[in-house]
Amino acid sequence: MELYNLMEDEVIKVIESMKNDIPDICYCDKCKLDMAAIALNNLSPKYVVTDTGYVYAKANNFNTQFNTDILTAITKAIGIVGKNPRHK
Ligand SMILES: [Zn+2]
Repeated sequence: MELYNLMEDEVIKVIESMKNDIPDICYCDKCKLDMAAIALNNLSPKYVVTDTGYVYAKANNFNTQFNTDILTAITKAIGIVGKNPRHK
């Protein structure tokens, strides 16, 4: 059994989906992880206990307020990283 932060999955998933909404910036692995780190620092973690990697509680636990918070945090993170990618 191990602890797993569902928010990580959710944030990565939403960043992927933002590629279409905010297209003109870099979404390489490095930038995506930077965005995820900034967003996750601004969000409450959502821990679940998993057994051999299987996540019991799936993302449908997320309510609308959650999704709004995630979108706000990620939009902000994309703005920060998009303006200042940590690579050439
Ligand atoms: Zn990049």
